[in-house]
Amino acid sequence: MHEKSPEAYHESQLYRIRHSTAHLMAAAVLEMFPDGKVAIGPPIENGFYYDFDLPRALTPEDLQKIESRMRALIAERQDFVYQEITPEEGLTLFAGQPYKLELIDGILTGGVDEDGNPVEEAPELSIYKSGIFVDLCRGPHVQNSREINPQAIKLLNVAGAYWRGDEKRPMLQRIYGTAFESPKALKEHLDWLEEVKKRDHRRLIKELDLVSFHEEAGPGLAYWHPRAAMMRKTIEDFWRDRHIEGAYDFVYTPHIGKAWLWQTSGHLDFFRESMYSPMDVDGQDYYMKPMNCPFHIMIYKTSLRSYRELPLRWAELGTVYRYEKSGVLHGLMRVRGFTQDDAHIICTPEQIEDEVLRVLRFSLAMLRAFGFEQIEAYLSTRPEKAAGDPARWEQAQQSLQRAIDAERLVYQVDEGGGAFYGPKIDLKIKDALGREWQLTTIQFDFNLPERFDMTYVGEDGMEHRPYMVHRALLGSLERFFGILVEHYAGAFPVWLAPEQVRVIPIADRHIDYAKQVEDALRQAHLRVSTDVSSSRMNAKIREAQLQKVPYMLVIGDKEVAAGAVAVRLRSGNDLGALPVADFIAHAEKAISAHALE
Ligand SMILES: [Zn+2]
Ligand SMILES: [Zn+2]
Repeated sequence: MHEKSPEAYHESQLYRIRHSTAHLMAAAVLEMFPDGKVAIGPPIENGFYYDFDLPRALTPEDLQKIESRMRALIAERQDFVYQEITPEEGLTLFAGQPYKLELIDGILTGGVDEDGNPVEEAPELSIYKSGIFVDLCRGPHVQNSREINPQAIKLLNVAGAYWRGDEKRPMLQRIYGTAFESPKALKEHLDWLEEVKKRDHRRLIKELDLVSFHEEAGPGLAYWHPRAAMMRKTIEDFWRDRHIEGAYDFVYTPHIGKAWLWQTSGHLDFFRESMYSPMDVDGQDYYMKPMNCPFHIMIYKTSLRSYRELPLRWAELGTVYRYEKSGVLHGLMRVRGFTQDDAHIICTPEQIEDEVLRVLRFSLAMLRAFGFEQIEAYLSTRPEKAAGDPARWEQAQQSLQRAIDAERLVYQVDEGGGAFYGPKIDLKIKDALGREWQLTTIQFDFNLPERFDMTYVGEDGMEHRPYMVHRALLGSLERFFGILVEHYAGAFPVWLAPEQVRVIPIADRHIDYAKQVEDALRQAHLRVSTDVSSSRMNAKIREAQLQKVPYMLVIGDKEVAAGAVAVRLRSGNDLGALPVADFIAHAEKAISAHALE
């Protein structure tokens, strides 16, 4: 379902089918709205879209009509015919299509292709004709519409999209659709989409009373409710414990800093658009921090450092604020304030190889502990314009490569794709639906140590420049939490679940004993509550199941008499009656093993 490499996809028949289906869709839309304007319509991962400027908003009924008209066009066995055209021909052909004219202008003056992507080669115009529809296009396409299976196409939804992604330009209607080679493949994809929708964290965080956002109080800012806060505490505790074992130290740093700090770090030059406007304090500009690094460096600079102190590993759950356009905010995945699980490693050149391997192993262990087993590495190397000594880049890249090899990771190299200040490894995990998420970044920095003139005294008694590595393992707690919600569809492993156990007394006369059980569990540090409502047992069980509580302990006369609990799992399985102490031992085992069920 997910194409291996972009190049292979671009060459595939599936790509041609989708691209050609997008053209048929545009043809059908123009039949329905003869004065409609067409913009761009490329294939994308898992489908295609086309943007239109139409006199009215499209309805679901319109989509159905367009889709059946597309099937009729397929049945006409239309040829897709390629033709090169002169600029004059282009201007005449698309005279009534202002977006196409703008694209032609862009191609002729250089810089972009018909999908708005930058191009370097000499400008040339080409079109594809199918039936009476003509599109400014380079292809590739199918030769004839009979290559498209009419039962394997589907229009999915309409969304708003600014022309050229620019919010100052017109808002267009984007129809998303998809096409596959067989109805079976289409069905599988639609089922997958259904599952994606079901797991959408924006819905689940509401249903499970986890996190809210408040437009009126500022979009993109997450409010963690008690259940989510409990999970976050669990994640943070685990994170801190692992860092202690990994010989890290913790630091806490301020949320704002004077312009001097951000000028020295360079953020005011290269990161300004992502920073909030300054606030005036005593006539000085202060900025909310978009990153923690300069603060950690200030701590480093408080004393003359010796090689004997290195490596330093300083970690902080540092909350940062970055400006994101409101259009790109997306639940917990893209927010304006978030907490990075940050750390900076400062070491000597002799230590760098060990440190990189160590931090990579640490990252992998962390991701696996949360149930992510499929992990791929992406190595980004030196771009043309780069800060710092090329020999150091070389050493840094080698240490990253060796660490990847030592861990036998599947990886890809993005040659020249690194930031100007250093090479990096990103780790991407695959979630339960096969989607990739980038979590960990291990990033060298040859820029900040220069800018802040960081030094240490070496064995030779001379001052040297240390290596500095930024790393975040989970990325940000907000986004990581959103990914966990979708990965587990809200049914978190027992060690993470905000409420691990729900005690369910069948009748009021069982409440006293239920409360004793609750207390015993609480003393064992289990997260537990008792349902003392007047609902019937089945309703109580249903309620606990809706909230995806891993264990339900049902208590009736028999259990009270035996000093036991009847254990039910959220999966519906029954473990039968267990003495309270045995249940606690069972739960503790599942928790310490990070068991999935
Ligand atoms: Zn095209
Ligand atoms: Zn940093």
